[in-house]
Amino acid sequence: MRNHFPVSIAEIHLETIKKNIRIIQQKASARKVLAVVKCDAYRHGAVTVSKFIEGNVDWFAVASVDEGIELRMGGIKKPVLVFGVPTYENAAAYQTHNLTATISDVAHFSVLMDGTSYQLNFDTGMGRLGFSPAQAADVRQLAIASQRLACSGIYSHYATADDPGSDYVYIQQQRFKQVLTHFPEIPLIHMSNTGAATNYDDIDHFGMIRTGLGMMGYNAGYTRHSWLTPALIWKTKAAQVRPIKRGDVVSYSSTWVCPEDGFLATLPVGYADGVPRSLSNKLHVLINDTYYRQAGNITMDMTMVFLGKENIEPRTDVILLGGSAWNAYEWAEHGQTNVHEILTNITPRVEKVYI
Ligand SMILES: *Cc1c(COP(=O)(O)O)cnc(C)c1O
Repeated sequence: MRNHFPVSIAEIHLETIKKNIRIIQQKASARKVLAVVKCDAYRHGAVTVSKFIEGNVDWFAVASVDEGIELRMGGIKKPVLVFGVPTYENAAAYQTHNLTATISDVAHFSVLMDGTSYQLNFDTGMGRLGFSPAQAADVRQLAIASQRLACSGIYSHYATADDPGSDYVYIQQQRFKQVLTHFPEIPLIHMSNTGAATNYDDIDHFGMIRTGLGMMGYNAGYTRHSWLTPALIWKTKAAQVRPIKRGDVVSYSSTWVCPEDGFLATLPVGYADGVPRSLSNKLHVLINDTYYRQAGNITMDMTMVFLGKENIEPRTDVILLGGSAWNAYEWAEHGQTNVHEILTNITPRVEKVYI
């Protein structure tokens, strides 16, 4: 007997992810690829996606130790870099689960356990985590003195690479190159995220690129890359369809007034599933190859769509995001956020189905 009845599904096209990786790797003439699978691989499913692409990438990266442990428990064997900071609480887990730590502060050298592998992170202008370039000589001395740990690389991160033409990308690159003069023997150097790898062909991508969003078929900025294919299609079915009269109002705060007699479909998804409330009265969804406008405030679990004169059966398929419907670029643009946030807001309520 089934005891599980998801009201919406996210179709994840695994071959599409593999193809996107190949294209980005070629664009950047990159030797190695690190697959960023933080936040459950941008909600595409970290373990399933990582297992599928493990033969096509060299490294994985996650945000936290817990996400790294999940990959190891799922059977991932390739190196896993953790972007977050090591602490006394989680230091042993790096060693137990063979996770590569990020050292971004002097204190981290003493936190990690003997034999732990690590990479150095320098902040060349992102303003988030990492040593300042001025610390390079001191950090080198600490690395040499810390032979009980194993250094496997050095990295930095761009702040403005999501769109082409940013001078700051070149400034950060220069700062990083200056840092690198202090580390002539380091085995692996990387700096480029999806944006840098796809929007800048005249910078040095060093030994490896890091891609998260690009694998999923998107670029983060305003620049849309038609040669990448979104890998996730979010689908649901109409829960109820009812006639509605001109002048009737819909949903909380009655922000929508029906312009003409017609039909209203109620969909069983809302902002608790990941349809941003900021898309209220803006979102368009695809039903039978026709776009319909969403009506009224999006609620926690339900979203209404005005069908005009069209009457459809309850249980009719509705494409919310991806495929021929609006994709995460349109959602991000109309919801005034970025593609990353649209994808990571898709909650575990949405059942993942692998194609
Ligand atoms: C998230 C993240 C990435 C991946 O960025 P995308 O734009 O998704 O490719 C790369 N490097 C670091 C340090 C990150 O935090």
